Amino acid sequence: MRQPESGVTVWLTGLSGAGKTTICQFVENKLRMQGYRVEVLDGDAVRQNLCKGLGFSKEDREENIRRIGFVAHLLARNNVIVLVSAISPYREIREEVRQNIPHFIEVYVNASLEVCEQRDVKGLYKKARAGKIKHFTGLDDPYEIPLFAEVECKTNQESVAESATKVLEKLGELGYLYSC
Ligand code: ADP
Repeated sequence: MRQPESGVTVWLTGLSGAGKTTICQFVENKLRMQGYRVEVLDGDAVRQNLCKGLGFSKEDREENIRRIGFVAHLLARNNVIVLVSAISPYREIREEVRQNIPHFIEVYVNASLEVCEQRDVKGLYKKARAGKIKHFTGLDDPYEIPLFAEVECKTNQESVAESATKVLEKLGELGYLYSC
């Protein structure tokens, strides 16, 4: 399969439990089946290695995002489709990364705090409510919603396939795929 002429970074931002990882996996599978070169940078995984030791202060969160952005850029400039799944709660640093990466698509994975907390996929909201985790985004730490995201997935109204299809369609529409 021919590869597109340019890579791209698809940056999924949203609350914990909003659906970033799930959408990434779906999109990754679809693209791989079609022969594209894809890499996933998952916030949780990255904190185990590339960003090990960073905490959840604003400064550390920014550093976390800068490092992810740096690696995404390296990969994307080698024609890889990079799927980033990171809460990335601060608008300014997301914009900084966007400015530094030539091909950048922001995906706002939108589910209300109530829905995310009800899902509580990793049991983190429960821990945070019990005071065992501090600076938890959406509870005692801010989440700044994107103002100009290229895609918005409303995951409390859409199926996983519908949300992922929105991302795939945007990739196609912007010329990063040969077929969708
Ligand atoms: P995050 O990576 O944002 O922390 P996860 O992907 O781990 O979130 O969890 C999201 C949860 O929401 C999963 O259990 C998933 O099945 C569910 N979900 C329901 N609808 C959607 C949707 N449209 N897109 C993504 N996830 C969804």
